[in-house]
Amino acid sequence: MIKGKFPIDKFQKIPTPFYYYDTDLLRETLRAINKETEKHEGYIVHYAVKANANPKVLNVICQAGLGADCVSGGEIEAAIKAGFPANKIVYAGVGKSDWEINLGLDKDIFCFNVESIPELEIINELAEKKGKIAQVCFRINPNVGAHTHANITTGLAENKFGIAMGDMERVIEEASTMKNVKFIGLHFHIGSQILDMGDFEALCNRINDLQKQLESHRIVVENINVGGGLGVSYGHPNHLQIPDFKDYFDTYARKLKLRPGQKLHFELGRAVVAQCGSLITRVLYVKEGVCKQFAIVDAGMTDLIRPALYNAYHRIENICSDEPEEAYDVVGPICESSDVFGKAIDINKCHRGDLLALRSAGAYGEIMASQYNCRKLPIGYIKEEI
Ligand SMILES: *Cc1c(COP(=O)(O)O)cnc(C)c1O
Repeated sequence: MIKGKFPIDKFQKIPTPFYYYDTDLLRETLRAINKETEKHEGYIVHYAVKANANPKVLNVICQAGLGADCVSGGEIEAAIKAGFPANKIVYAGVGKSDWEINLGLDKDIFCFNVESIPELEIINELAEKKGKIAQVCFRINPNVGAHTHANITTGLAENKFGIAMGDMERVIEEASTMKNVKFIGLHFHIGSQILDMGDFEALCNRINDLQKQLESHRIVVENINVGGGLGVSYGHPNHLQIPDFKDYFDTYARKLKLRPGQKLHFELGRAVVAQCGSLITRVLYVKEGVCKQFAIVDAGMTDLIRPALYNAYHRIENICSDEPEEAYDVVGPICESSDVFGKAIDINKCHRGDLLALRSAGAYGEIMASQYNCRKLPIGYIKEEI
């Protein structure tokens, strides 16, 4: 069994559970993104802060020159604190509260991705009070399904996100009558953990149609934002450490018909940070059940909720043992039956005190941690600091 390489001696001194971020891999991933986008005119990548807002991780990403995609006022604050320039921040969300809109206005963020007319009216009103003009993109629901988990598709007509295609022109017209908002583009996001490039192609086709429609009404679109959603290999974090960014960006280059001078924005979250992060946990007990054995660990669904929430798979490695593999149910200490990280999975024989690594946990891991059962939040460490 090929395992990730971890500084186990150093790990022994750190209280478990904790997150570990391989910043070398993160930087390599960011270089791979920049290498591909440099090939295409007008491509701009924003990092979706909601995937992981650890300040040290954000700082590395900001240094690579990416912008930030935020979905709350707290994320705008975190992005600015980490060093992202405000003019590279985009802000989406179906329910922006007044203080969050005011924060975006005060900081002069690049744009608000607006999801409804009532929201547009409030942004206009709040901007007027400040004597500002807010740049807005409209988030259009493209009614494109993504072949991913039902809870993480966002681009279907039945989802709560965005403005229906049929309302697009009316909303743009509406904006043109308002003095304190400026329409600068269209925004889309169809879902997460998408590995079938055909889904992104379907989005491109839809955008091409919408662009034609708008052009026939002489509406100019300066920016197209296609959101994020590129998936990672949860099954093979050691072999497929860096997502196929070439295939991803080339798909857009091939299928999306950009107009001269038009900018194409991306909002990648998971694909940037998932593989660099692992949740490190200690085996507390090995318990023989009636027909199976359990490895009971000190991390639980409060530290990494994806398996309980989405039935998500995370590869689990015993990084302290080379003994032959045995099958375990790896479970946490939380008082919930869904507090299970893996059922009947083969890992090297476990003993009390062994460290296990739950791989590909850099995205939607630490940031989704909770204090249920009065637990402490896990701490995230980057390679340089341990
Ligand atoms: C969550 C989200 C993203 C990032 O999604 P990933 O699947 O992590 O790439 C991008 N844009 C918006 C609007 C989002 O809500």
